[in-house]
Amino acid sequence: VTGGEFDVAIVGGGPAGSTAALTLLRYSALRVIVIERSVYDEWRVGETLSPGVQPLLHYLDAESILDRGQLQNLGTAAAWGGSDVVSRDFLFVGAGEGWHLDRARFDRSLAGLIEERGGTLRTRCVVESEWHDDDGWGLRLSSSGFLGVPRVPRHSGSEELEEPRNSEEPQTIRARFVIDASGRAATFARRRGARATQVDHLTGLVAIFRGRATGSTLVEAAEDGWWYSAALPDDRIVVAFMTDADIIRERRLHETAAWQRALDATRATRERTTAAPLLHPPTAHPAHSQLLEPMWGDGWIAAGEAAVSFDPLSSMGIGYAIASGIQAARIAARPSDEACRLYAEDVAKHFAAYMERKRGYYALEGRWRDARFWQRRAVNAPSPQSDRPATQSPDWSR
Ligand SMILES: Cc1cc2nc3c(=O)[nH]c(=O)nc-3n(C[C@H](O)[C@H](O)[C@H](O)COP(=O)(O)OP(=O)(O)OC[C@H]3O[C@@H](n4cnc5c(N)ncnc54)[C@H](O)[C@@H]3O)c2cc1C
Repeated sequence: VTGGEFDVAIVGGGPAGSTAALTLLRYSALRVIVIERSVYDEWRVGETLSPGVQPLLHYLDAESILDRGQLQNLGTAAAWGGSDVVSRDFLFVGAGEGWHLDRARFDRSLAGLIEERGGTLRTRCVVESEWHDDDGWGLRLSSSGFLGVPRVPRHSGSEELEEPRNSEEPQTIRARFVIDASGRAATFARRRGARATQVDHLTGLVAIFRGRATGSTLVEAAEDGWWYSAALPDDRIVVAFMTDADIIRERRLHETAAWQRALDATRATRERTTAAPLLHPPTAHPAHSQLLEPMWGDGWIAAGEAAVSFDPLSSMGIGYAIASGIQAARIAARPSDEACRLYAEDVAKHFAAYMERKRGYYALEGRWRDARFWQRRAVNAPSPQSDRPATQSPDWSR
């Protein structure tokens, strides 16, 4: 063992992985390591943080990270089911004020707390291979970018990263339990034989403009999908078109000119970006709903998007990732098959309920019933709901 011995190794330092680590560091004396592929220096998508997340951050004594250069969200307005833009606070989980995040900054701030609280964070690092024996796991780590293992600085608000430490050789660590929090890729779980059931092919084409928008998130339905836009910290605006992968391919929407033409055809969204310079052209991000099966095995469990992922329309992603990170940590502290089984059942139950509400919500938009994007989402939609006024939205948080 060249890299140390730990009780819990967490693969992935996004919201799920970092909160799993912070739970263990706050509520147990276990030795924790987080293995993160990046150095949090690249743009990350997923910007709207729902207000329901605050108590979870309080539980982790991590609320202060929201003071570090994030923006208050003043609600959600939507043109959904009609062309008028009206206030639709229900659209994203929980009414009230949430936040517009610089996601890389948010994830980096959360991960920065791990070392402050006595945990180990290895950035630009991946698990190359692993084996399981009577003593737990042996994990072979290697650098994901270059040789060396840089750390996120202790002052997590800082944008600067420390120079790589001198550890060129791949390392082996030992850990009793592994939490896979590597996001949709679920890299560790997949190597253990788990597979995700993917229920759609939703993809986000996400671009950034320079400029100021009002404080609310704007959602606007269109024939081929839907748009969202929001103000971001540092005078930026995120504009995303959510549609299906095959529609993107056919219409070449990943090309900036075609994406821009689609934006120009909107009513409300384009007004936010008139005369605003494009900072980052659209890039594609998978946003489909999926459920991992199995979600746990001997000595490991999946948390966050590695276990389950939701349509961004629900804005459930970060909140659910944090909640499941906390749950997975509690199981890792006292692992048992029974606890893992109950956790997996609970996630699957949430996913089934979410799927019903998702269908109901998409059915509220009736202007393009024959269009492929909307037809696909209307399958099995409970028909009475499709005639409900858009103000009676399903409650995503139930
Ligand atoms: C277009 C789009 C818009 C969205 N909008 C919202 C929104 O407005 N609000 C919301 O709440 N959610 C939103 N989401 C969802 C949200 O981003 C996710 O739910 C959330 O990021 C999940 O957190 P996580 O920690 O599980 O996974 P991730 O955030 O994906 O974190 C995984 C981490 O693991 C690291 N990693 C990956 N592979 C490895 C590996 N092999 N080894 C080591 N590390 C690895 C990654 O670098 C990353 O840091 C959106 C998603 C998309 C695609």
